[in-house]
Amino acid sequence: MALTDPPAAVPGREDPPDRSLAPPPSGAVTKPASQTTPALPRERPAGLASALGRTRVSTVFAILAISPLMRLAALRYAVPPGLPSRTGCDACGAPVGLTHPWPALGPAARCGHCRARVGPPPATVELAVLAAAVLLALAGPPGGALPALIWWLGWTIPAILVDLAVHRLPDRLTVPAAAGTWLLLGVAALDADPEHWLRAVIGGAGLAFFFASTAVLLGRRGFGLGDAKLALSVGALLGWYGWPVLLFGLVLTFGLSALVSLGLLATRRANWSTHLPFGPFLLIGTTAALLLAT
Ligand SMILES: [Zn+2]
Repeated sequence: MALTDPPAAVPGREDPPDRSLAPPPSGAVTKPASQTTPALPRERPAGLASALGRTRVSTVFAILAISPLMRLAALRYAVPPGLPSRTGCDACGAPVGLTHPWPALGPAARCGHCRARVGPPPATVELAVLAAAVLLALAGPPGGALPALIWWLGWTIPAILVDLAVHRLPDRLTVPAAAGTWLLLGVAALDADPEHWLRAVIGGAGLAFFFASTAVLLGRRGFGLGDAKLALSVGALLGWYGWPVLLFGLVLTFGLSALVSLGLLATRRANWSTHLPFGPFLLIGTTAALLLAT
């Protein structure tokens, strides 16, 4: 099956990006231009442009290589529970897969036969991958955990698109995301303090256990088991960088979820029994915590 191909194989991204050309963290460039030599104000834009330029080629390759696979994953599994995976266009039945990729798996997301829309909305996957690549290149977390984060994003972005479409997180995406994340963090721990990996394992297992216990104890009012499986990798990634980062990621995730829920309630677009997918908040909260706190 095509979906067993790891979507996170990013050409040219095997090595962590050279952060030396990225702009310094916010706060580091605080000199007013008037107090510096004429050359200094140009340094930051030049560094930024250079970093962007250097990442542009690999980013384009990454999008070309990954986006169709992510689109295929989201298209396959965005079906209600119990139904077989989707293999083609809903409107005309024309097959969509790696042997028939275009234009259905391109940014236009149109069936090549009947022109109906297939899979996630046009350009969503491509923009998500582009945003992830640029953010990781400019502000990605340091250290050997970057391959694990790239792998995690490669599986989790399509999983979140499925969650948004049909409110489920398929095992076929969350389990490889967790397995690869744990494995790549284990490899990274060979060159780092093993305590990092121990914390990642405890963080992932603990968070998944918490989510799963709410699913068992609270039923539909708790989290889903899909959320628990996603938490295996979320807890590991955040835990690798320390307990405060894990806590910060959870605060961001739950805070964002509460804000959106209140907004939907206030605008009467949801009521107290509406079930919001939680996966998107986990993705945004985790990514934001790793970018801000590492
Ligand atoms: Zn069609």
